Amino acid sequence: MPNHWSTLQLTEYFSGISGTEDEGAALQQAVERATETLEAEVGAVVIDGRVRATWGLGHDQDGAELLPLTGPAREVVLPGLGTLHGSAASLRGSGDDVLVVARQDSPLQAEERQLLQAMAQLLGLVLRNVRTLAAERALREDKEREAAERLRLLEELRTRQRLLERLLAIQGAVSSRRPLPEVLDAVTAGAADLLDGVRVALLLTDSLADGGLTVASGSEPDVAADVGTTRTVLDAAAEAIAAGAVVETTTGSTRLVAVPVSVDGEVGGCLVAVPRAPEGDDRDADPHRGGRRALLTAFAQQASLALTDARTVEAVTLANHDPVTGLPTRALFLERLHDTLAEGGDHIVLFIDLDRFKAVNDSLGHRAGDELLAAVSHRIRACLRTDDTAARIGGDEFAVLLRDVPQEVGVGVAERLIESLRKPFRIASRNVVIGASVGLADSRTHLDGADDLLSNADVAMYVAKKRGASQVAVFEPRMHSETVERLDLLADLQRALSRGDLRLHYQPVVDLGSGHPVGAEGLLRWTDPRRGTVPPLAFIGLAEESGLIVDIGRWVLQEGVRQLARWREDLPALTLNLNVSARQLVDKDFIPHLEQILAAVALPPGTLTLELTETALMYDPDTSAHQIDRLKALGVRLAVDDFGTGYSSLSYLRRFPVDQVKIDRAFIAQVNSGSEDLAVVRSVIELGSALRLQTVAEGIETEDQLDTLRRLGCAMGQGYHLSRPLDADGAWRYLSGHGAGSVPSPRSAPSDPQPTGRRAPDTTSA
Ligand code: C2E
Ligand code: MG
Ligand code: MG
Repeated sequence: MPNHWSTLQLTEYFSGISGTEDEGAALQQAVERATETLEAEVGAVVIDGRVRATWGLGHDQDGAELLPLTGPAREVVLPGLGTLHGSAASLRGSGDDVLVVARQDSPLQAEERQLLQAMAQLLGLVLRNVRTLAAERALREDKEREAAERLRLLEELRTRQRLLERLLAIQGAVSSRRPLPEVLDAVTAGAADLLDGVRVALLLTDSLADGGLTVASGSEPDVAADVGTTRTVLDAAAEAIAAGAVVETTTGSTRLVAVPVSVDGEVGGCLVAVPRAPEGDDRDADPHRGGRRALLTAFAQQASLALTDARTVEAVTLANHDPVTGLPTRALFLERLHDTLAEGGDHIVLFIDLDRFKAVNDSLGHRAGDELLAAVSHRIRACLRTDDTAARIGGDEFAVLLRDVPQEVGVGVAERLIESLRKPFRIASRNVVIGASVGLADSRTHLDGADDLLSNADVAMYVAKKRGASQVAVFEPRMHSETVERLDLLADLQRALSRGDLRLHYQPVVDLGSGHPVGAEGLLRWTDPRRGTVPPLAFIGLAEESGLIVDIGRWVLQEGVRQLARWREDLPALTLNLNVSARQLVDKDFIPHLEQILAAVALPPGTLTLELTETALMYDPDTSAHQIDRLKALGVRLAVDDFGTGYSSLSYLRRFPVDQVKIDRAFIAQVNSGSEDLAVVRSVIELGSALRLQTVAEGIETEDQLDTLRRLGCAMGQGYHLSRPLDADGAWRYLSGHGAGSVPSPRSAPSDPQPTGRRAPDTTSA
């Protein structure tokens, strides 16, 4: 075999086996070509002792027949072929991997054996190459697989990160008490973001609409309207809510997931995800299916948290805030005050009590009262800085906490508050004038707890109120004992009323012309076992402040009217004056009770004169005017008491249709002293006569005063000089003994004995 020929053969052989794709193909090519080139009958490649490829063998032969040739054997006998001469060449110079051929006619020549050797070595080379390539490919594939896996993990991580961020943001919004709609929008938007392409809506059971569903939030503006009206969505939602479990449905091209949301531990709605584009019907094909459920469930939990939290906050806020004014309650105020005191620093507490609020509430009704309280709270807030706390402490009591301010500033704020609350309020289409008294307590001077600071401010308020309307008082320790005393007095007075320890005394009222008494004024007396006789001026104010005057006044009316009725059985012309306080006049039950009292004894109403002070009339001019009209309609007569000491505005005499003017004893006392009081008394008498009012002089203590008053034409009078106030028996003796009930002198009787309306001055009768 010529050398060049074998080289050509080797080249073809090499390109043949090296063009193969894998090891198996290379081995097959190698055995085929080697067998043919060497004109052998059969061939095989043995790798690691195993026959990997054969050529020329029958179907039932696997090449094991040729294995002996890899050892020392030079011949094999094959069925159908007889004895074959074999040659083997090592692939790597080792005996393990060999290329074997076997030929019928003759053994391989030396050159042929060299060729076989070269072919075997080339195969060894190619195999190494193919294996390296395969290994590289496998490595590459592994790497690619790993990279893909890493990418997937990364993507998952990113999603999880986004989820975490969203959930954290929602939790932050919940704990910083962002408005609920804002939090719910964050939930739906967050879920939609993580489930890209999916629209998310939160549906809640509507307790008002009988279990119907309302869309509380949508991931996009139009989702709410869309989803809220889509039957399939509503059905799936209702199903999820009823079952309390996740529901996944597919209707036509719409696939949706509904996850229940609970409020306070009860299923109260659900979070629904609706794909934007049709997704086909095969839901198992959706790779995100499981993830979508889990994500949606995470967001549903957030919605549950937010809703439950909102419900709790609502409950706490409701409990801590006054529903009428929206201001914190006493409990919350004390809590804040306590916290503020704990922080240190100097703080001021103001205690505000409205003057005359109860009168408005009683006369205009509770709705108007609530309206007024709400308006008051607005005005209070308007006087404060944002970090000051205002609270409603009780019925018409408010408190204010001023943080870190000196006392002067506190007093300034109190004065501003009073000024603001003095301006008329427009309530129930009326102008209502109230006012406020303010007590101030300073944390600098009183280092006790929150409770004490507030009660000190309360005590100071009490003192302020006692000083008159619209005052500020700064707390001082001695105020405590005064307050305690007043509270004691009030308790005793209350007891006196219920035990029947109150009495009426009567001071005769005399017709100055005839000298005969025409009637009497009933004056309240309280004899206390411990205090002795307490004069009315010592307790009427307290009774008015506390409202007890309403009950006391009712007793006075009852007692006085009963006494008058009894006296009139013998002295039928007798009249009686009774004092009525402002608080009593505007009480809504005042007139009905008076009617009952008069009806019970069948007393003509004109025999009773009710005395009101100017101040009382001005307490609540609108309500007073209204009540006075009703009293006039009833036929009761009215007197202005202590005339000249109050607003002294003569115009009130025209505004209020009164029948009698009682000139205050301060003027009578000075009537003969050469002072201008004489002029005052004269002008009042003249005015009375012009307005056809009876004039009554109070506190006549001397004969001189009596003479002067007679001379001036004063119709009637009362005073120690005529008679001191007497108990019922004494009064009866006086009245019957002095010819009471005889016909009054012409001068004392008004020409119109039962005036009913407001009158213009009558200049002709002056
Ligand atoms: P008022 O209605 O002006 O009663 C007249 C007061 O002057 C009475 O005092 C009477 O005792 C006193 N007085 C009468 N004559 C003289 C006199 O010549 N000299 C002096 N110095 N005083 C005289 P009182 O009884 O202490 O009553 C004081 C005030 O208490 C009354 O003034 C009235 O405003 C109020 N008050 C008395 N009883 C009642 C009542 O039942 N209801 C109400 N709301 N107030 C009453
Ligand atoms: Mg009086
Ligand atoms: Mg008087």
